[in-house]
Amino acid sequence: MFIIDIQHLRFGKNNFHQELTSEDIRWDVDRAQLTSPVRVDLTIRKIEDKLLFSGTCETEANFVCDRCLTETKYTVQKPFELYFRYRDRRNYSKDLELTAKETQECDYSGHEIDFSVYVREVLILTIPIKILCRDDCKGLCSHCGQNLNKGHCSCLTMQTDSRWEQLKALQT
Ligand SMILES: [Zn+2]
Ligand SMILES: [Zn+2]
Repeated sequence: MFIIDIQHLRFGKNNFHQELTSEDIRWDVDRAQLTSPVRVDLTIRKIEDKLLFSGTCETEANFVCDRCLTETKYTVQKPFELYFRYRDRRNYSKDLELTAKETQECDYSGHEIDFSVYVREVLILTIPIKILCRDDCKGLCSHCGQNLNKGHCSCLTMQTDSRWEQLKALQT
């Protein structure tokens, strides 16, 4: 939880520096394990009943490469900008899902916002659909499971050889 008491915000700029654990943000993404707390630098600008949240989320995560299954460390540093508008509680919708848009509009009601929900959403947006240890990861051999980044296995040459044999067979 990272509760922001809206009533006690000053008009103008309010600065926050907060470290959140994976429990604080209820992190449950198996593909990416957070290995350090999430450092949140947050500035809230209050203008009448509108709030502009901007800043960065920083953390380190361990990913498993989709091709070679090696654990890989990633440093995540994601700027965000969120714009909140006051809404009457009766019209309040709980489905506050972020999209890939850089600036997101959200509604709030009541006197506080649990910003940890948004930190989680911001971090989820940083996870690539395909996670690779490096752009040219060669993956694993489908026969013996050898990590081909670390060197060739003997299956590869055998495979190539048999293909050549087939070609030769076709030619004759
Ligand atoms: Zn890999
Ligand atoms: Zn192999």
